[in-house]
Amino acid sequence: MTPATYRGGAFVSAARRLGLEIVVGLDTPPGLASSRSPEVLALDFKAPEEAVQRIVSFAREHPLQAVLSVDDSAVELAALASAALGLPCNAPDAAEAARDKYLMRQRMAAGGVPCPVFRHFPLTADPAAIAHTVSYPCVLKPLRLSGSRGVIRANTPEEFVTAFYRLKRIVLAEGFDEGSTGFLVEDFIPGFEVALEGLLTAGQLQVLALFDKPDPLDGPFFEETIYVTPSRLPAAVQEAIRSCVERAAASIGLREGPAHAELRVNEQGPWMLEIAGRSIGGLCSTILEFGAGMCLEELILRHALGRELPSLERRPEAAGVMMIPIPQAGMLKGVSGIEEARQVPLITGVEITAPLNNPLVPLPEGASYLGFIFARGESPAAVEEALRSAHRCLRFDIRRELPVLNAALTPPAPPTPSERAHPHWG
Ligand code: ADP
Repeated sequence: MTPATYRGGAFVSAARRLGLEIVVGLDTPPGLASSRSPEVLALDFKAPEEAVQRIVSFAREHPLQAVLSVDDSAVELAALASAALGLPCNAPDAAEAARDKYLMRQRMAAGGVPCPVFRHFPLTADPAAIAHTVSYPCVLKPLRLSGSRGVIRANTPEEFVTAFYRLKRIVLAEGFDEGSTGFLVEDFIPGFEVALEGLLTAGQLQVLALFDKPDPLDGPFFEETIYVTPSRLPAAVQEAIRSCVERAAASIGLREGPAHAELRVNEQGPWMLEIAGRSIGGLCSTILEFGAGMCLEELILRHALGRELPSLERRPEAAGVMMIPIPQAGMLKGVSGIEEARQVPLITGVEITAPLNNPLVPLPEGASYLGFIFARGESPAAVEEALRSAHRCLRFDIRRELPVLNAALTPPAPPTPSERAHPHWG
């Protein structure tokens, strides 16, 4: 995991509940990973071969039963390390295809999976020349970022050129090399968006939860907000979605472990936007509970260890989460109304995760949320309404201070060593 991941805490607690001994492979310089509980193995995710070697030497002294990535950041490393240790896992090339949007699209198209028409261009291309060769509306997207970062809709050639330069700045600020990376241009697929959380066993997909995303995601940027499960789509459409995701997983070679997929659904049926070999991001998994009270991370850990899985039935009531969007760039000075939001019927939690006195960077440059609101209730509609009411109670004091004014234009700086040294997983 990376120090900034939202997902570490849930996995560490689940491992403790299962009585597992764990070591956290942390993307951090060796000096910064000192005596902690759980034990930390410092790794450099940007140097995967060396990181695999460190994991393999560590495993000689402390045999490992499974290597898992808690989010997107280490899925390829986990697959490489598992392969080196002879542990069951997705093939490294499948993990790579699930991280690289161009490879993913190529494999999905070859596998006959319904997905948008796509074209790949180098970052060194002249956008004005390309702009007249693509169809509109289209979506420009970087190959290897996540959380909708750098994903921008363009309706006209002029918007295409502007979007191109914005995407390019984001990709270069992430340390990618202009000469060796590219970007995708896809047809914009209209429709209703859903997210599927599943578990793959020998290529068979078990749906753990299907989420509706009731807020329209029409761009120009694609900020996630509300997820509600169970889906209100008809059963036949839900089955079409499941089968589409299973085929998508097969087309890229994902066979084992968690899968998180995003799809659009319109009158032509489901369209695959993306599948990842990891579980749902942020703090969203908090709302998922299976069988007699097992959380998603416990299921994933048990599955990875080949242990028997108890019921995969989700708790019967409806549940939902709102990823609280960042309304504007600026410095977060205060948040009020949290208690009021917590008092809204059906609300089970409100977590503000953005630290005070820190710059907020909205999409397409930013990579985080203000926080999360959770709800449970009898019906998806009631849960959705509760999330909206709670959100209306919250007031964010965001100051447009000078250095931040440019945040929307300037990609955020990578975390400093001291930020990297203060992980969220505690
Ligand atoms: P990321 O991995 O960064 O989340 P995605 O490819 O999943 O990138 O895109 C992020 C979001 O952008 C999607 O959830 C969707 O809302 C929107 N999006 C991406 N591609 C398309 C497309 N071709 N048509 C319509 N919307 C899209």
